Amino acid sequence: MRLSRIAKLAVLLLTCVTAGVRADQALTPADIETALTTAFAKYKGLQEGANADYIPALAKVDPNLYGIALVTPDGKIYTAGDIKSEVSIQSISKVFTMALVIEEAGPEAISSNMGVDATGQVFNSIVAVEQYQGSEMNPLVNAGAITATSMVSGNSRDEIWNKILHFYEDFAGRKLAVNQEVFESEAATNQRNQAIASLMYAYGHIKDNPAQATDIYTEQCSVSVNVQDLATMAATLANGGRNPLTGKQVMSSQNVAEVLAVMATAGLYDDSGQWLYLTGLPAKSGVGGGIIAVSPGRFGIAVISPPLDAAGNSVRAQKAIADISNALGGNPYEVTPVE
Ligand code: GLU
Repeated sequence: MRLSRIAKLAVLLLTCVTAGVRADQALTPADIETALTTAFAKYKGLQEGANADYIPALAKVDPNLYGIALVTPDGKIYTAGDIKSEVSIQSISKVFTMALVIEEAGPEAISSNMGVDATGQVFNSIVAVEQYQGSEMNPLVNAGAITATSMVSGNSRDEIWNKILHFYEDFAGRKLAVNQEVFESEAATNQRNQAIASLMYAYGHIKDNPAQATDIYTEQCSVSVNVQDLATMAATLANGGRNPLTGKQVMSSQNVAEVLAVMATAGLYDDSGQWLYLTGLPAKSGVGGGIIAVSPGRFGIAVISPPLDAAGNSVRAQKAIADISNALGGNPYEVTPVE
């Protein structure tokens, strides 16, 4: 296990030595198009990983589905591969519900409730809840995410749900729908998440109705998106909370940094540190096969490809995003010294 993780890190590091545009250079459309088509072709034939199957409907998704989209702050869209097919957003939704809670209640509402620390445990860990009685975790693992959903204000389930969906739609720049088959499939098999929500209720992090919070959370994970939707959502974060396609200020720019910080800390499950080390990019993956990544001020990018590695992250998506970001100077920590 340890050896294979080291080998994986080495392969990803090797990928990253072919640097292209420097972080302080402007991007041209040709740079971006070349980066996308090169990465698309390079990983098209890759046959690694497997669809998630603990939610039965996800096992049936076509594993060959593969699309890339990148959106720049000035509203240009670049794509490669399948941009029409939709997958369920899954854990990527956690980012936007966290953002909604921060908008409604401020960044401290998150840090003082479930916390903003990495757990070092799997995303649906009960041990992580028990360790600090539901504190010192974050809104991107299931316990923190269901708690975040429970914090969205509203007088009825409908009101809360509509607010969440509309918020996601503002990020994507179009109307979104729920994949009912995925929703029903997960709702029928989410006993573990129900248990996690009950624990978060027992420890006082969820104030009321953990069953409703779990149900809305399950529905938010079932929202159906294509790769351009995901890239636009990422680009809205890259552009200080303003959707580059619609021009709408979806969230206040002051609150974006906190969202990106949690993505950097915990966006790629147990491999979040490894991912940040390689790319410097705040990102979030979902078991539906999507990954979004944000290069602040530079671009938002998304890749969809359902087969996942052992940590639960799309194999092709990680490789393609790392290559593209590297070619485009996307790492925000890469600074050219002043002469
Ligand atoms: N709905 C999924 C769950 O709660 C989301 C998991 C994920 O994408 O990481 O298990």
